[in-house]
Amino acid sequence: MIDISCPRCSNGVTQRFYGPCETCREELRSTQASAGSEVAAQAYEPKMNVTPNAVALKE
Ligand SMILES: [Zn+2]
Repeated sequence: MIDISCPRCSNGVTQRFYGPCETCREELRSTQASAGSEVAAQAYEPKMNVTPNAVALKE
């Protein structure tokens, strides 16, 4: 365990690795989780549009 200052909120924390504190990690996780599902949804739609064109090119 090491004593560090959280790079995000500057609170002093004791944890195994250098990085954001527990609170910040929770926030980052929920932020990235929602952003990730948005990106996944946006990335998924174009694929659905590409498929008909790919089929059309084959014919
Ligand atoms: Zn923090």
